[in-house]
Amino acid sequence: MLKIRSAELKHDDYIGKYVSIKGWIHRIRKQKENTFLLIRDDRGDIIQCIIDSSKTNNLTIESSIEIFGIVQKDPRAPEGGYELKANEINIFSISKNDYPIGEYQSLDLLLDKRHLAIRTRRMTMVSKIRSSVLHFSRKWFTDNDWIEVTAPIIVKGSVEGGSTLFPIKYFDENAYLSQSAQLYLEAMIFSLGPVWSITPSFRAEKSRTVRHLTEFLHLEAEAPWVSLDDLITIQEELVSYLIQNILKKNKKEFDFLKRNVSELEKISPPFDKITYEKAIDKLRNEGLTIIDRESSRLIEYGDDLSIESERLLTLNSSKPLFVIGYPLKIKPFYVKEEPSKEGVGLAADLLAPNGFGEITSGGIREDDLQKLEKRMVLEGLQKSNYEWYLDLRRYGSVPHGGFGLGIERLMRWILNLIDIKDTLPFPRTLRRIYP
Ligand code: ATP
Ligand code: MG
Repeated sequence: MLKIRSAELKHDDYIGKYVSIKGWIHRIRKQKENTFLLIRDDRGDIIQCIIDSSKTNNLTIESSIEIFGIVQKDPRAPEGGYELKANEINIFSISKNDYPIGEYQSLDLLLDKRHLAIRTRRMTMVSKIRSSVLHFSRKWFTDNDWIEVTAPIIVKGSVEGGSTLFPIKYFDENAYLSQSAQLYLEAMIFSLGPVWSITPSFRAEKSRTVRHLTEFLHLEAEAPWVSLDDLITIQEELVSYLIQNILKKNKKEFDFLKRNVSELEKISPPFDKITYEKAIDKLRNEGLTIIDRESSRLIEYGDDLSIESERLLTLNSSKPLFVIGYPLKIKPFYVKEEPSKEGVGLAADLLAPNGFGEITSGGIREDDLQKLEKRMVLEGLQKSNYEWYLDLRRYGSVPHGGFGLGIERLMRWILNLIDIKDTLPFPRTLRRIYP
């Protein structure tokens, strides 16, 4: 007898074979003589099974079973037209009959019961795509001769500014959860050349948005002797490669999620580009106002790009857009100044199309010791926490740069999801650290 998964047996070769499937009861429809069970296997695929109603008396939704039967074809069977004419059931565990996840549930309840809600087939599909994002990221970097490294999560200093730091008690010292591996990757390029990592980053995001998590998976890359143009090309190639390979590998999942992928199929280098300065002009022309000290005014040069500005910049385009050359004062201390343009940073953020907003941020790092020290004073950073980082400029400093990509931001775009929480099984946000 063959032991197989639901998806595999949906094939003419299996018709008439006696097989067994392990899984959970997804739906039950009882008739007088026969009961129709939808069995969901451990990869989230379903198969209809028909069995004599006398054998299903105590079965409940989510009971775990092994079911035995003969594969047959029936066009009425859901998802492929194959079903199992079953004659026997082994029970692993009868589920309590008040399974809280059903069709019409509040979003809050689904998050409270996330440990069960991740069994929904929708979440299974998303998780399979997430796995592909990670797989193909690793493949792209490995194939292109980057070395994978890891960086500590417990750190002494901030990377992206103090307002989103999570302090932790570390024995008798104060420490923080890492906001980014960047500074450590910078240290590693001196002995490994181009390096990359994928680690969780933590941000104490104090406002509730649909694109901020307090813990997210951060893909970061850093390389010596790269220019801003090089970094842009690397990101164009990486992002296009990820999308094209994921679309190929996960066609079934995208179909299930009803994601129209025709625009994604066209994602390829080069992406669109605009300078920060031109972006501000464009936003002013569109009349974008921001709230400043309780009154509102038109956005102007020097303002950070808000979620709304990023949305407007890409709303009607289907290509990602690099915004290049941000003013230094709205970027972190490590951004290098453009030699010919005072106050402008060699930095570029990548915005996803259709208003999805920032997915990567990167640029050239300040490699001059004095300039870096000056910037740290301006930002009020405590130098003693960064002496090790400054050593990188004291001992054989090199021009270098890199970027960081938020895995959930990328997924939110390619899955066309409104809420970033839907891109991962156990999201962490301002109000949620359970389950
Ligand atoms: P934003 O302006 O959207 O808050 P950021 O400027 O704080 O982003 P960076 O510090 O540049 O972001 O981080 C690099 C990348 O990490 C971002 O481009 C984004 O993809 C991702 N990222 C940053 N913060 C978050 C977050 N709170 N949740 C999920 N992803 C994030
Ligand atoms: Mg932020």
